[in-house]
Amino acid sequence: MFEFSETDKMLRAQVRSFAKKELSEGAMKRAKDGLIPPEIWKKAADMGYTGMDIPEKYGGQEASWIARGIVIEELAKVDFNVGSLVHHVQNMAWITSQASPEVAAEWVPKLVSTDKVCCSAITEPDCGSDVGAIKTKAVRDGDYYLITGEKTSVSRGVYANICLVLAKTDPNAGIKGLSNFLVPLDLPGIEISPLADMGCKSAARASVNFDNVRVPVKYRIGEEGKAFDRQFISRIDQGRALLALFCLAAAQTSLDDTIAFSKERMAFGRPIAKYEGVSFKIAEAATYLEAAWWLCYYTLWLGDQGLPSYKQGAMCKWWGTHLATEVIYNCMLLHGHVAYTEELPLEQRFRDVLGFEWGDGTAEIMKIDIARQIIGKEAIPYK
Ligand SMILES: Cc1cc2nc3c(=O)[nH]c(=O)nc-3n(C[C@H](O)[C@H](O)[C@H](O)COP(=O)(O)OP(=O)(O)OC[C@H]3O[C@@H](n4cnc5c(N)ncnc54)[C@H](O)[C@@H]3O)c2cc1C
Repeated sequence: MFEFSETDKMLRAQVRSFAKKELSEGAMKRAKDGLIPPEIWKKAADMGYTGMDIPEKYGGQEASWIARGIVIEELAKVDFNVGSLVHHVQNMAWITSQASPEVAAEWVPKLVSTDKVCCSAITEPDCGSDVGAIKTKAVRDGDYYLITGEKTSVSRGVYANICLVLAKTDPNAGIKGLSNFLVPLDLPGIEISPLADMGCKSAARASVNFDNVRVPVKYRIGEEGKAFDRQFISRIDQGRALLALFCLAAAQTSLDDTIAFSKERMAFGRPIAKYEGVSFKIAEAATYLEAAWWLCYYTLWLGDQGLPSYKQGAMCKWWGTHLATEVIYNCMLLHGHVAYTEELPLEQRFRDVLGFEWGDGTAEIMKIDIARQIIGKEAIPYK
């Protein structure tokens, strides 16, 4: 049965105190400016948060999924974008650790220390959910591949140094013809165009165009056609739970702010907390948040036990991100007109969290994944 260990509890207390000391000041300004200063990246790295699940030889700690959840949640409660950033760095450092030993040794320590940044380019202008339809191709040319295609919606594409690119190595093999490459973004033939986003501005999304970019074979990750190999797929569920957790963290902070506000704000001679129209909304939000929070940690625990978690991961991603958006929206309504200004952090959190209803897969795709687990292959629309 799952419960937090004493070590987990100590870790939570440590991250909470770090976040309070280092992140409380300026979180709103950072979100507005779309900039997390390098000192904050460095401080998170110095605490060991950025390399939690990669091998020690690359500067990581091989921590549990639960520990990663605790770190990301506590950071995101204070600064949503720092929680999301640390999740991103951890994830990309792990993926890079799966490259050839030479490439991994060169890049992973730089990613964990945050000296360099890696982004991930899967989505294209003509397709996102339908990954098998991507057009970017990688054609073998001796000891190199020539990569050509347009990627879009690449988080941190504006300032990343290296990019994980999903490309077709066999155009006739569907999803089995897809391969992963790490592509240094200073190679000739790459053009980066920033996107003007409504939230998550520090994630600096971009379109990245690759025109016959010459990438050494050693930068391919794994075998040709094995982009969705078991080692990658097995991590998807916990990645979805972590993503939901940092969105739920922003919602929890918004709810805590709303509880305090409801006791102070007077209407018709009483604090608004006295009115069931207000207190029941708060009670409902607290109930849903707690349920989704447990689901996320249960999914992380399943990952730590090596147990199947495909259904739970998809449930976390769909419901957790949507619930977080909905809770923040209701917190805005309960705060009255001032929530519609930039004086409060609520509108910013709403815009930030909303992005993750698409990012890493939409609600509809998650529901397909859930349905195929509980109904069976009859629920798969594309077969
Ligand atoms: C903040 C943010 C960050 C992101 N970061 C990255 C990143 O770093 N790298 C990256 O590669 N991508 C990134 N993305 C892109 C994201 O992964 C895609 O938006 C997502 O996969 C959906 O693809 P799409 O937007 O092309 O929509 P489409 O796939 O075109 O879908 C459009 C609509 O149709 C629905 N739909 C599609 N197929 C079905 C179906 N079979 N049944 C029912 N409904 C369906 C979808 O759910 C959606 O509502 C990011 C997106 C956002 C918003």
